[in-house]
Amino acid sequence: MDAALGPPAAMADHGDDLTPMMTQYVELCERYDDALVLFQMGDFYEAFCEAAEVVSRELEVALTQREDSTGTYPMAGVPIRSAASSVETLLDAGYRVAVAEQVEDAEEATGVVDRAVTRVVTPGTVVEDELLAPGSANYVACLASATGEGEGTYAVAVVDVSTGEFRVTSADSREGIRDELDRFAPKEAVLAPEFDGDFDLDCMVTPHDPDAFEVEAARERLESVASRPEAVVENDAELRAAGALLAYAAHTQTADGALDHVTRLTRDDPRDRLELDATALRSLGVFENPSGSDDHTLLDVLDETSCALGRRTLVRWLRRPLRDRERIEARLDAVAELTHASLVREELRDLLRDVYDIERLVGTVSRRRANARDLRALKATLDVVPKIRETLSETDSALLADSRADLDGLDDVRGLIGRAIREEPPTEITEGGVIARGFDDDLDELRTNAREGREWVEGLEERERERTGIDSLSVGHNEVHGFYIEVTNPNLDAVPEEYTRRQTLKNSERFYTPELKRREDEILGASERADAREHRLFREVREEVAGETERLQALADTLAALDTLATLAHVAVENRYTRPELDHDGVAIRDGRHPVVERGTEFVPNDVDLREERFAVITGPNMSGKSTYMRQVALIQLLAQVGSFVPASEAKLPVVDRIFTRIGASDDIAGGESTFMREMTELTAVLHDATRDSLVLLDEVGRGTSTTDGEAIARAVTEFIHDEVGATTLFATHYHDLARLGDELDGVRTLHFAVEGDPDAGDGTGSDGVTFLHTVAEGSASASYGIEVARLAGVPESVVERSRDLVARETGSSEPATDETDEPGEEQRSAGDESEAGDEAAIPPEAVAELRELRVAELTPVEALVRLDTLKRRFDDQDN
Ligand code: ADP
Repeated sequence: MDAALGPPAAMADHGDDLTPMMTQYVELCERYDDALVLFQMGDFYEAFCEAAEVVSRELEVALTQREDSTGTYPMAGVPIRSAASSVETLLDAGYRVAVAEQVEDAEEATGVVDRAVTRVVTPGTVVEDELLAPGSANYVACLASATGEGEGTYAVAVVDVSTGEFRVTSADSREGIRDELDRFAPKEAVLAPEFDGDFDLDCMVTPHDPDAFEVEAARERLESVASRPEAVVENDAELRAAGALLAYAAHTQTADGALDHVTRLTRDDPRDRLELDATALRSLGVFENPSGSDDHTLLDVLDETSCALGRRTLVRWLRRPLRDRERIEARLDAVAELTHASLVREELRDLLRDVYDIERLVGTVSRRRANARDLRALKATLDVVPKIRETLSETDSALLADSRADLDGLDDVRGLIGRAIREEPPTEITEGGVIARGFDDDLDELRTNAREGREWVEGLEERERERTGIDSLSVGHNEVHGFYIEVTNPNLDAVPEEYTRRQTLKNSERFYTPELKRREDEILGASERADAREHRLFREVREEVAGETERLQALADTLAALDTLATLAHVAVENRYTRPELDHDGVAIRDGRHPVVERGTEFVPNDVDLREERFAVITGPNMSGKSTYMRQVALIQLLAQVGSFVPASEAKLPVVDRIFTRIGASDDIAGGESTFMREMTELTAVLHDATRDSLVLLDEVGRGTSTTDGEAIARAVTEFIHDEVGATTLFATHYHDLARLGDELDGVRTLHFAVEGDPDAGDGTGSDGVTFLHTVAEGSASASYGIEVARLAGVPESVVERSRDLVARETGSSEPATDETDEPGEEQRSAGDESEAGDEAAIPPEAVAELRELRVAELTPVEALVRLDTLKRRFDDQDN
């Protein structure tokens, strides 16, 4: 634990000697010992001792001292009004922050003001708008496993405290649950005791309270969201994960009603969705491109949503594409209808732009933090609902028709807010100006009194001037003395008797009259009571709105789905996507495009037909388009199962259970683990879990090891998938020999990407004069791609010739480049190396022996370099 957390040593030692306030501080530090306690003192949040040092350092504020009868303690604080940014900084620095507020009016308190922690702010439980990304969910996750007979089952639950979204799902392996967890990309995770130290997660890992994971405790905890929790969850693992998570959420949200908007637990059945592990999501660039940024991603292309609700739902749909054909078709029907009905679509999208983030707003309402503007924003959204219903009146696809029927505009709530809250209210709810006229008779009367009083005062100057004949007489008001009548010195003689002196200035005197005093008290009293009444009325209205949380959440869901469907339709029209047909056994795509790459390039569409033969071996040089081609097939399949149209002129597809990708290990340097080892681990998962209904993409499998091993592995994998699994597979490889498999195995076809050259053109997408056609063609590529590319790039003809000779010699054939060649790919054979190749020294036998024994799979990159260096020295020694 951080030394700054928990009760400060200096104070703890003092024991009973501390002042009552400091005792309170120490107690709160003990109770929230995993958080940094910010302790309200008036307008500041303060921290003491070690915590003060953290605050001072992280927030760059002065470290001061607090002195009391028991000693002197370091102290640092931040003003409450800038609390949000201070908390953000502390969160970024890896702290949880417990906000201890004065929960008692300082003036009414007898003794020390009572304080309580009203929030523990942690990365996964943030609710402040300022600290949240608008269109993304903010999850805290919890992992648990099943006890007793369910052993081997693992569950992950997530909750987004800002919106109340609460979900749980399970998997039957640790890897599986890890995938589930990664998919949610939580900001924080709570782990059950049995996982201690097991998972190395990217997010903040929070210490657990083991008791919260007890099955019975978890079950009871869940009763607030489900009357019979065991009817919602599938197993003990889910029960424990969800229950403990809810307990943790409650630990961080201590204010009354703060979790009232967590009204339901949704169970995601793993069998309902197309599985995409984190590797696949990443390598397909769904949310994040390979360089880790979020532009040039599928989400980026699709995110034309009108409101934050829609964006979050789009992300959810992409994260969990469907497997149920009926549900997919239902979405596709709706999208199709909206692509045709362009007026409806555009109107809908327009209207949805006025929809506020009511999911988060509902959270704010249940935390009783919503102000009058928030309620007005809610009303503005409710105002749109009837118009949306109207817009949808002619639609007939089931989803749209159902949405229209489901659209509950909450007329009662809308009416209430409309009547109760002024149109442009202030954000402060205690200072009046919030409640509309006509809503409450008593309030109106108070206001009338106050107004009449003020009008009387306003007319006073005129009346008194007339009565006294003093033209310069004036009536004014100041904070200290209230209302006064001011008369300049030369006119003091004319002052009437009932004027009482209030204040003497240099050139004038100020007076009041009994009537003025009475009116003043009346005005003040009336305004004060009016403000108080407004505050009470406002809270009553908010309470009533909070009572409708579930209806509001249902409305948010419907609006979110409508936005997502309209967005998919819009994107389909803008990018010329077509409706996929999902009733096929194999994949057949005409003029398929990569939805992301096609942006900003002159894209060459390509066909795929994997119906007769489900396995394609794809060859071609680097940069010819192999990975793009494979990814585009996977993305089209994914989009289809999301319910989206796809970038192709025709797509006949099956519904797949899972998309596996094993792409480009050669590109990433994995920390201490050998890249090849990682490649093989991922490959194991593919071979283990793929079924006939899966889509498998393999890119350069076996590249991380020697050519012979690599080729052998690649071949064995091909045979295994082909013979045992039967999954639809695209396999890009530079092992040219594999192309022959197409002839040997039924159901394997060979494709290749061609290049073409014109040394003078120089305008191709490749390097000078080499044009990558990006066109896929039947059959295997010429084996001498590397040499061909070298020639096209302008390498001198003599070098090219020599290269051909060498290839021929190596393969014992006089023909340059045939399918028999052992082609290691042009990336391993650069044209410049060739000139010396003929004088190669013989390999010393010890080196050969050493090479044979080398277990590449077990080497780290650094070890590999060291071994390579040793081998090279052997050669050098021999030469000398
Ligand atoms: P490979 O996997 O064969 O090395 P890539 O698929 O990575 O090749 O493609 C290399 C580059 O070529 C990509 O960055 C992309 O910009 C471009 N490209 C690929 N396929 C196409 C295509 N069909 N039309 C246009 N450009 C393409």
